[in-house]
Amino acid sequence: MSGNESRLQAIYEITNREPMPPKTPKRLEELWASDVFTLSKMQEGLPKDVFKSLKKTIHNGEKLDPSIADVVASAMKEWAVSKGALYYAHVFYPLTNATAEKHDGFISIQSDGSVISEFAGKVLVQGEPDGSSFPNGGIRSTFEARGYTAWDVTSPAYVMETDNGSTLCIPTVFVSWTGEALDKKTPLLRSNAAMNKAATRVLKLLGNTDIAPVNSSCGAEQEYFLIDANFANSRPDILLSGRTLFGKAPAKGQQFDDHYFGAIPERVQVFMQDVEEKLYKLGIPAKTRHNEVAPGQFEIAPFFEAANVATDHQQLLMTVLRNMAKKHGFICLFHEKPFKGVNGSGKHVNWSVGNPTQGNLLDPGDTPHSNAQFLVFCGAVIRGVHKYGPLLRAVVATASNDHRLGANEAPPAIISVYLGSQLEDVFEQISKGGATGSKGKGTMHIGVDTLPVLPTDPGDRNRTSPFAFTGNRFEFRAVGSGQSVAGPLVAMNTVLADSLNWIGDKLEAELAKGIELNSAIQSVLKEVMDQHGAVIFNGNGYSEEWHKMAVEERGLANLRTTADALPVLKEKYIEDLFAGLGILSPVELASRFETYAEQYILSIEVEAKLVISMAKTLIYPAATRYLSELSNAALSLKEIGLDLEVETIEKVSSLVKSMMEKVSKLDSALGSHDFATTEDHMQYLSKTIRPLMDEVREYADGLEAEIADDLWPLPSYQEMLFIK
Ligand code: ADP
Ligand code: MG
Repeated sequence: MSGNESRLQAIYEITNREPMPPKTPKRLEELWASDVFTLSKMQEGLPKDVFKSLKKTIHNGEKLDPSIADVVASAMKEWAVSKGALYYAHVFYPLTNATAEKHDGFISIQSDGSVISEFAGKVLVQGEPDGSSFPNGGIRSTFEARGYTAWDVTSPAYVMETDNGSTLCIPTVFVSWTGEALDKKTPLLRSNAAMNKAATRVLKLLGNTDIAPVNSSCGAEQEYFLIDANFANSRPDILLSGRTLFGKAPAKGQQFDDHYFGAIPERVQVFMQDVEEKLYKLGIPAKTRHNEVAPGQFEIAPFFEAANVATDHQQLLMTVLRNMAKKHGFICLFHEKPFKGVNGSGKHVNWSVGNPTQGNLLDPGDTPHSNAQFLVFCGAVIRGVHKYGPLLRAVVATASNDHRLGANEAPPAIISVYLGSQLEDVFEQISKGGATGSKGKGTMHIGVDTLPVLPTDPGDRNRTSPFAFTGNRFEFRAVGSGQSVAGPLVAMNTVLADSLNWIGDKLEAELAKGIELNSAIQSVLKEVMDQHGAVIFNGNGYSEEWHKMAVEERGLANLRTTADALPVLKEKYIEDLFAGLGILSPVELASRFETYAEQYILSIEVEAKLVISMAKTLIYPAATRYLSELSNAALSLKEIGLDLEVETIEKVSSLVKSMMEKVSKLDSALGSHDFATTEDHMQYLSKTIRPLMDEVREYADGLEAEIADDLWPLPSYQEMLFIK
């Protein structure tokens, strides 16, 4: 293989890499939650009445009794110290999609100069990281920067081990001095409470008497890329922006579909096994692993959990993947589109609601037409997704996810609901006056004598839908791979709560008129279908026809970019939705718009600057060196009476010239700073800067196809995607 010096060096390092030392695998029972302060460990370490009180808070959402904090803190500390912890950290989730933590020692110095480990209840319950540098969208100015973290009792504490010891980690909410949410956890907890309230009300109306608290659940499928660190480290674009800003597609991409569900390369499998061991110790139920569509792309999906816990675990999972990748000489990329021309990565957020008494409220059973409870909850989701579709688009809007949504590999930016043929038929019947039957499960004959006849699911799958019913839950597929799942979960819980309240009002009014419950349900569901049925779409979401029909006939929004979608957060009906349910105040919502808009602006500006510097300092020099080689050769040949074909020289020189013209255009376009509003600034980046970046890239990628391989300064797609 040819290649310039640093690329050759990288390949040498990879091919001569020492494999990780083998480990003896441990039994699941031994690993499971060994680093978590679980309920059973609490029970062991706490007096009976304290444990009972704490359990009430965890399971029933009752307020934490402050008088037990000292006892709990002391038991937690004893356990953590036995695991080698000297420090504790309040872990919180700022608006950046990242996880933040502030570490403090247990150390307390005594008057005689000796030390003891101390952990009082009040520092367990509340912390005060300065945190003034986190984006807060104007809620806090630095002179009144107090931000508090407060223990979230419903998400278990754990220890995070490194090679040199461990730290007790306590999941917390992060709020301002005046109690405003500065994080992603606070609204998630509030949205769950609002949904619980609305769901309980509706369950009562449906005749239930024993109703346990309703919780939302989440199972997130995480896609990611693994690239050898030797390559990633010589690509400034991957290091700084998480994606390649240049790079010509390899001769072989994913067109053979030979990577998807293929045998996992051994080096990657060893990595995955290390990840899974760590996850099990942290009580994260890793369940599925496989190769994804693109070369170098993989997926991990844990079993679903309560939404709040699943969200913390999702953040932890990304941290574990990132750190473990480094140990194995990889870089783990969560960017939604790290490589042009091959599939990007998403995060499918599977979501449902339920409780121990009524079970999964989105489980249709075998005969959904007669399952009033299911139909009401499913109808509520349909209304919510239709009425607030633009909100669901806005919560997945990031600069990086713009590359993916609508690019024929991921769901379109149009938010619709896929129900599958059985449910579509049932709701069709409802809108015509009443559902009387459900299409049953089919059977599948495989034609091999030794195999049994297999039952088929009543609904097929549809990979092109952004919001699909998948048997007993909805799967929100438009979420970006690098995103926190909190925002999407907040939106889903919130729109469901709103719809359930609407349904509750309707049902109450009908019942008050003396109308029988079943007819009342039928009429409210018919109204849902009449007003919101337009959101249901079972066809091909990638097709041209759908894009036309969705917008022109059905009136659905097609918000293509983040610049189009984020301003939805400023609309009055969205403000009313969140404020009415007590999930986000207008100030908190506005701060989210400001923060996410700023992130969008910053990420595009960073990328644009990188495009300019890489084009100037890496690609231009390589191209001119090659040109000088070619022209020297041409001159020498002329001396002995021969001619070099001049087409390559002409082509390279014209590509260089065009690239540099675009670079200077991009450079001066970046100089514009006069924008009346944030929205204008975002539109400018989306409509002017991004296309210019693409134009520079097009010429640069053209050069990569022409220039001598040993002069090309950047590891190629082929190298990064195929050498492991
Ligand atoms: P797919 O076929 O979509 O790739 P996977 O098995 O990879 O499915 O992932 C499905 C995810 O959905 C898992 O995390 C699973 O635990 C989760 N899931 C299953 N039931 C529920 C539910 N009731 N609520 C939330 N998530 C669920
Ligand atoms: Mg899926």
